[in-house]
Amino acid sequence: MSFESLGLAPALLRALAEQGYAEPTPVQAGSIPLVLAGHDLLAAAQTGTGKTAAFALPLLHKLVDAGPTMTRRPRALVLTPTRELAAQILDNAQAYGKHLRISATTIFGGVGMGPQINALRRGVDIVIATPGRLIDHMQQRTIDLSGVETLVLDEADRMLDMGFLPALKRILGALPKQRQTLLFSATFAPEIKALAMQFMREPREVTVTPPNTVAALVSHHVHPVDAERKRDLLLHVLAQDSRRQTLVFSRTKHGADKLVKYLEQAGLRAAAIHGNKSQNARTKALGDFKSGRITVLVATDIAARGIDIDQLPMVINFDLPMVAEDYVHRIGRTGRAGSEGMAVSLVSHDESGLLRDIRKLLKDEIAIDNVAGFEPSSPLRLDAGAPRPKQGQRQPRSPQRSQGGQSQRPQGSSQAHRPHGHAQQKQGNGEHAAGNRKRRHRPRPAAKA
Ligand code: AMP
Repeated sequence: MSFESLGLAPALLRALAEQGYAEPTPVQAGSIPLVLAGHDLLAAAQTGTGKTAAFALPLLHKLVDAGPTMTRRPRALVLTPTRELAAQILDNAQAYGKHLRISATTIFGGVGMGPQINALRRGVDIVIATPGRLIDHMQQRTIDLSGVETLVLDEADRMLDMGFLPALKRILGALPKQRQTLLFSATFAPEIKALAMQFMREPREVTVTPPNTVAALVSHHVHPVDAERKRDLLLHVLAQDSRRQTLVFSRTKHGADKLVKYLEQAGLRAAAIHGNKSQNARTKALGDFKSGRITVLVATDIAARGIDIDQLPMVINFDLPMVAEDYVHRIGRTGRAGSEGMAVSLVSHDESGLLRDIRKLLKDEIAIDNVAGFEPSSPLRLDAGAPRPKQGQRQPRSPQRSQGGQSQRPQGSSQAHRPHGHAQQKQGNGEHAAGNRKRRHRPRPAAKA
């Protein structure tokens, strides 16, 4: 299938050719005709599937088709959970709409409201907003939503996870009833279905990947390790290829900062990206990572949600996520677009329960490999009573990195480097025996994007 056959405006086709897009991805091929035909849409697609273009292209096409633009009443509203995602959607919309006279702006917290108010006053066609700041504008009456013809809820599942449901309901209540609504979500969790039932008109569904699956080209590795040796093991893994761009996940903001300090002391170029960082610091860290100025980006789940980096070769979970679904989101950063990716998790005994949840969710055997020299003092437990860290638990302190380069020695790909090899820890089938514990989305505290 070609973009031409989807009936998109020639100016959009030109921009797509300039972007080097040869053909639509499955979510684009499924969604674009439905959106152009005016249907409400419920699309299950993760970051990395091309979902942004799946809504941005038909949105731009319809805006051009409809005639005069740039009034003080925006005609399209895109809601997204994080500032980074909002900025990326704007980048994409500007790239696709570069031969059109369509204006778009972002509205998110962490930056002054003045420039946003000015942009709205000048007149804009598409507003890309995070819910918290949009509500601020609604309260101050600096935005008029009465002209919105199309609403896009991007990463709706994450917006709910972040506690935005009350804000979303308020925004939805302020929009014209006559509109087209497009909802994109990594999963069709019951809460998403409920939202769609309440605010959409007979939505058509597009599902391109079964919910909660990760790209087939990602190989998963779990390295059991004692908590206090995790940082040494991280250095050891990173040292295998110091030029490789690696995204490292930390459960806490504080942990991410500490880890960056540690990596920098070890001579690596690293930066952290999390909610306590200013917008400028986050943009800089992401820009440095994309340009290769830094090779390790340490991120928390929420901050990383919007990171759009193609073909990242490796993602390392320094801590496992507290919610198994976040593993899928984290790993979505690697193995994209047909390239191979590697997901490495450093798992301490107290995270055994979290690992058990992840393996159950993926319905897949994840190889558990001891790394020679880093074998844990007690093996991971994958039975029903497997321990899990308490919410908010700090990361363990690590003793000073051992001198003499032991921890920097490459992990090695041959048995000669690893006298004990990667001992496959035999997996019991405890996860099946104990498989009747219901997995739940744990609500997160509300976060202002
Ligand atoms: P998304 O899922 O929207 O975050 O998109 C992931 C990446 O795929 C982005 O870098 C897009 O620029 C890229 N992309 C989107 N659609 C296509 C396409 N049809 N062909 C090639 N790359 C694409």
